Amino acid sequence: MSDRKKKLRTVARRKLKEGGVDCFVGYQQPINNLFSPPLIAENLNDLERLTVNPLSVGNLSLYLPDLTEEENNQKVGVVVKGCDSRTLNVLLQEDVLKRENLFIVGLPCKGILDPSKLREFCREGEISTEEFLSADFSWGGDKVVGHLEEKEFEIPKENNLLPKCRDCDYPNPIDCDVRLGSEVEPGEKNFDRVEEIEDFSLEERWEYWERMFDRCIRCYACRSICPLCYCESCKVDPRDIPITEDTTPEEKANRPEWIEKVPNLCSNLFFHILRIVHTAGRCVGCGECERACPMDIPLTELSQKLEKEVRKFDYVPGLDAEEDQFLTDYKEEE
Ligand code: SF4
Ligand code: SF4
Ligand code: SF4
Repeated sequence: MSDRKKKLRTVARRKLKEGGVDCFVGYQQPINNLFSPPLIAENLNDLERLTVNPLSVGNLSLYLPDLTEEENNQKVGVVVKGCDSRTLNVLLQEDVLKRENLFIVGLPCKGILDPSKLREFCREGEISTEEFLSADFSWGGDKVVGHLEEKEFEIPKENNLLPKCRDCDYPNPIDCDVRLGSEVEPGEKNFDRVEEIEDFSLEERWEYWERMFDRCIRCYACRSICPLCYCESCKVDPRDIPITEDTTPEEKANRPEWIEKVPNLCSNLFFHILRIVHTAGRCVGCGECERACPMDIPLTELSQKLEKEVRKFDYVPGLDAEEDQFLTDYKEEE
């Protein structure tokens, strides 16, 4: 068992046993996908499944608003990587979370493996998917090591990390109560792909995004997985406005329908423009929206473009929970 996993389980066990938290949100061993799914541990038995490894892909801050909201009123332990920690700070900044309800275990992050690359790795045959799913993983310099009972295998980090991890400049959790291991050297952020698209002509850019968003089936997975998309009722999806037995026919008829239910280019563009504008100055580039998209739409190209623009104002979202929000604070010269 890796040192990080051992330390995590010890800390989580102590907090749950002492009643310091009501539940602990972390990751568990992969089950049938090549990443570690989330685990919400409510008792010591659940903690037997708790793990942390280079497959801990999800941004767990997604689950915190529901778990800590007034009627649940739970104190929650959570594991965060650098990017997740920045999301958590945005949620604190926006008063969606309260710091006193959280016990934060920070994971200085050495990068997360890209599940799509791992599928290729398993297909190439060095190890089977079944072996992969039963391995214990640890980070080792420029590679990830998979430990099986009778053998070990190595996956080079180069070309196998998630795109967002290849130039990550905030790998360390910003704020935590316990840190798992020593700090990691930050990388240097680049916006190469954004700059490639910026070089397109206006017509080429329009054609490119039309092509991308024409594929969107409006499943809203990108919205559901984004920890920062937490409005109870979404303008683009009137199903969020409940119809009860007391709803009158007039109220039903007057429910706002900003876009058509059936996916089509015009409505898809409306949804995506609305979504991306709502994340301006807040999106931390965790990449979850793109990971969730079943149509492989490169959503982070848009969020990266916004981040590039926001950084021109010396602002990086999620670095300080006490700071004013980007779009609510103006300087005269802006
Ligand atoms: S973006 Fe940075 S902090 Fe987030 S998973 Fe990748 S390396 Fe870790
Ligand atoms: S918009 Fe995408 S990249 Fe940005 S915070 Fe939400 S899920 Fe993460
Ligand atoms: S996840 Fe992909 S297909 Fe689904 S709504 Fe978002 S962009 Fe469209």
